[in-house]
Amino acid sequence: MNPFPLILSSARRGGKTTIRQLLLKRRSDVGYSVSCTTRGARPGEEDGRDYHFLTLDEFSRRRAGGDFAEHAEVHGNQYGTLKAEVDLVFSTGRHVVMDIDVQGARQFVAAYPESVLVFLLPPSAEALVGRLTGRKTEDPATTLRRLTGARDELAAVHQYQYVVVNDDLETAYSQVSAIVDAETVRHRRLPLLSDRVRRLVDELDRRITQFPRGT
Ligand code: 5GP
Repeated sequence: MNPFPLILSSARRGGKTTIRQLLLKRRSDVGYSVSCTTRGARPGEEDGRDYHFLTLDEFSRRRAGGDFAEHAEVHGNQYGTLKAEVDLVFSTGRHVVMDIDVQGARQFVAAYPESVLVFLLPPSAEALVGRLTGRKTEDPATTLRRLTGARDELAAVHQYQYVVVNDDLETAYSQVSAIVDAETVRHRRLPLLSDRVRRLVDELDRRITQFPRGT
């Protein structure tokens, strides 16, 4: 098998983290590249499992050292994907699934052109606004920032190869999982395909030569 990166993006609260978690739980051929962030850990989050939680200095040092395949500022914090993390998952023969924002996805594809890009679209504006304004504790300025951010993120949908409408979670998951299956057997991803076909053709030639001919 020839593993590839699978990038899931969406307007915020679009369900990309949930679908990424389902893929990791249900498919043994998919692994996760743990991202770095400068934001603090939330309750229940563990360093090295959910994120590598870095100080801004450490993050800047690693960025200057060229350690990131992509990095971006999201909601005022730095996030980035380490090349070493991606390569670690590849070394186990698994595809790498990542949920990253649209700016990060653009940079990542430049570093890994074989990436598969999936955008998760909300079923309607009402559903998106409902998800974004759900936390009633937030002040109006924060909610407005989320809404404009989501609108801007939607504009990036045209850079993605696949678009899945995330209305029903199980349906959206099945579609993303089917994309992984289809991409796995893409002609250009099949290692040693030419050798394999040549051996088949040689064997058929041999049998054709030996085939009893009518007089
Ligand atoms: P959260 O802080 O809620 O876990 O994630 C906030 C946002 O950062 C999400 O939109 C998520 O997709 C994005 N994000 C998480 N990891 C990375 C990463 O490694 N690179 C980039 N560019 N975005 C990330």
